[in-house]
Amino acid sequence: MASNEFDLIARYFARQPVHRRDVALAIGDDCALLEVPVGSQLAVSTDSLVCGNHFLQTMDPALVAKKALAANLSDLAAMGATPAWVSLALTMPSADEEWLARFCDGFFEIAEYYQVQLIGGDTTKGPLSLTLTVQGLVPQGQALTRHGASVGDLIYVTGNLGDSAAGLAVLLEQAPEIPAELATHMLNRHYQPQPRVLAGQALRGIASAALDVSDGLIADLGHILDRSGVGAVIEPDLLPVSPELLVFCQDNLDQALKLALTSGEEYELCFTVPAHHRGALDVALSHSGVKATCIGQIRAGDSIVLERNGQPLDWQLHGYDHFSG
Ligand code: ADP
Ligand code: MG
Repeated sequence: MASNEFDLIARYFARQPVHRRDVALAIGDDCALLEVPVGSQLAVSTDSLVCGNHFLQTMDPALVAKKALAANLSDLAAMGATPAWVSLALTMPSADEEWLARFCDGFFEIAEYYQVQLIGGDTTKGPLSLTLTVQGLVPQGQALTRHGASVGDLIYVTGNLGDSAAGLAVLLEQAPEIPAELATHMLNRHYQPQPRVLAGQALRGIASAALDVSDGLIADLGHILDRSGVGAVIEPDLLPVSPELLVFCQDNLDQALKLALTSGEEYELCFTVPAHHRGALDVALSHSGVKATCIGQIRAGDSIVLERNGQPLDWQLHGYDHFSG
């Protein structure tokens, strides 16, 4: 690597706001050295983002960084893990310092908020892309997985669903005619997801299965059902949608509910809870500042049934085109 690239690393990545006591050796050597507490398991997750594919060339680098890190932290949240460390492999066509400075502003803002320390990485020349590996800690045997859902368990989601798809529609200029203020709100919801880190930790010992909504509720819940060997009934009328989404959909409630069922990159948690843990759930989540809404129940079977007033609802959501009417 050219010496000016060492300078870049020193200037942009080695200086950072987070200094954890469990990092014995940080950026600068061949490896980082990390202390894993006795009785903890390490939760590890990697995601790659390629320019032109996962984000547009024109996207603010600070937002690229924030969204990339938030999406990774969401994977830790979905396992009930506490974020600890992150490494960053960055490929860029040239040493674009303006881009790097903006990128680091966004990256370290999120890193500081969640107290996750950048412990190493790699910097290479090539088409713009980034790969993040986050590592978190979870008490031995207490991680939330996708395979523990049982018949009768209640199905919940955190926060609201659908806003991210609305923001994406604004971004792609496919949104209906709406006030500029609402368009900006939805764009922010798309660009700046809130990983449910505290909620994930609070769900340890309470949820039977969990994951984060990255591909859309229906698709992601399907993963829990597959891994757990069960089916589910969902009542769309119970789905939490924001007042802004209803305005965005021009008060077409069913369109808002369809968005909530299919919107990806929400980074809310979807999880299942045995009925006898309901009270414990309310107590646990009250400390995390995040609402959770019961939207259905696990049943025997292998598919998702949508119901309204006890009757099946035959919404065709496969390949659902969000704004074609
Ligand atoms: P090596 O040749 O041993 O792979 P490098 O020259 O690639 O080492 O990197 C030097 C140091 O800088 C290492 O500690 C590495 O982890 C760190 N580093 C390189 N690129 C990044 C980056 N984008 N973010 C954080 N740390 C980085
Ligand atoms: Mg290297």
